Amino acid sequence: MGKDAAKDEALEQRHNMLSPFTAGWQMVKVEPLIIEKSEGIYVYDTNGNKYLDALAGLWNNALGGNEPRLVEAAKKQLDVLPYYHSFWNRTTPVTLELAKELVEMFTQVKMSRVLFTNSGSESNDSQVRLVWYYYNAIGKPHKKKFIAREKAYHGSTYASASLSGLPNLHKGFDAPASFVVHTDCPHYWRNHLPGESEEDFATRLADNLEKLILKEGPENIAAFIGEPLMAAGGVMPPPATYWDKIQPILKKYDILLIADEVVCAFGRLGTMFGCDYYNIKPDLVSMAKALSSAYMPIGAVLVSEKISDAILKFSDQHGSLGHGFTYSGHPVPCAVALEALHIYKERDIPGHVAKVSPHFQKGLHKLSSSPVIGEIRGTGLIIGVEFKDGKRPENTFPADWGVSSYFADKCKEEGMLVRISGDAIFMSPTLTITIEEIDELITMFEKALKATEKYVESKKKSG
Ligand code: PLP
Repeated sequence: MGKDAAKDEALEQRHNMLSPFTAGWQMVKVEPLIIEKSEGIYVYDTNGNKYLDALAGLWNNALGGNEPRLVEAAKKQLDVLPYYHSFWNRTTPVTLELAKELVEMFTQVKMSRVLFTNSGSESNDSQVRLVWYYYNAIGKPHKKKFIAREKAYHGSTYASASLSGLPNLHKGFDAPASFVVHTDCPHYWRNHLPGESEEDFATRLADNLEKLILKEGPENIAAFIGEPLMAAGGVMPPPATYWDKIQPILKKYDILLIADEVVCAFGRLGTMFGCDYYNIKPDLVSMAKALSSAYMPIGAVLVSEKISDAILKFSDQHGSLGHGFTYSGHPVPCAVALEALHIYKERDIPGHVAKVSPHFQKGLHKLSSSPVIGEIRGTGLIIGVEFKDGKRPENTFPADWGVSSYFADKCKEEGMLVRISGDAIFMSPTLTITIEEIDELITMFEKALKATEKYVESKKKSG
């Protein structure tokens, strides 16, 4: 085999993974970033490079790397009982304790029971099953449709990908399923009409929602699902009055509200839950990610009393509740999650976020006058930066300039990992981040931004 052919073959087989949300050419041609160690808000790759992990894993590592109490909680549980299931009214002490703790912690609405899952996708998938079961239980079997929002991300099982409003989750996957209809994304900057105020924008979206409900028939609509603040779909804080306008419409037409708290829960916005921040009163809640501070895979669905009562009675008619997973309520993730919840409360993590996040937001927002930035948006410890050739969403740079990727590469050279999404980058650092670490993050951001401005200038000159 010649030297070039050998090289080609090596390129064809960099590794054996089908990597989630990665293009085929990247799997084949680009050396993956291999992270082998973490320390607080930093991670290290196999070449010894240190990075400030500005997305905290996938928005989930709330307490950072190597929190000894979480490590200890896992070890202790593994020693005592590495596994027992929660089927057929059998379970483990930590599973029960965690369910009780979650029900007590969520105060916007009195929650009654918790279904444990392994992820956010499974939580949202379970929502569909539980909501249908509920409506069948109360004699409204025609209520089957779900309303979700364009650009939302709710996961990648078939049902949760269908709820998501992102084309790459649908194309080629025979999705979305026909039980899902999508309504407006509440991103003012991208979607407002000329001269429309934020308040009027929120009113228009609420009117559109009502029109959609009437078109589909309220008797057919089961539930509306939404993140308090849309994260993965674009970090898009809704207008201040959005949720106040949406909720009465759902009530009026007897439509359940599901809060997808997979990203917002446990302090991200400076309140324990995203629902606390926006005064949302959901019927069901999905959680995952920071539930265990990312140390173990675990998710949860919180169910309010009226739903759980109906589900329980209906299950008697069917012999049992035919839903759940081998690892629902696995004792090791439950032990870690329980310890994480204790830490969130003891250290007042939401309070810490409320205290440090204005420094984070102001420090980055002041860079929004850069000629390559269209919009900077966020609240608490979550932020999105949209790269544009001007201040309007339509002012896109030529796609082959790869401006957001260039910026992310420069951040990496500076020692920071950010997430790229189309023309934007997102950051949602570890919730324990200090003011000094925020300053470090902003300094690296500024350096990468300067380099990006120069890059764009040179592209314009040569183009
Ligand atoms: N819901 C939201 C809001 C998310 O951001 C995500 C993942 O990013 C999910 C659900 C899916 O969670 P998982 O990746 O744990 O399945």
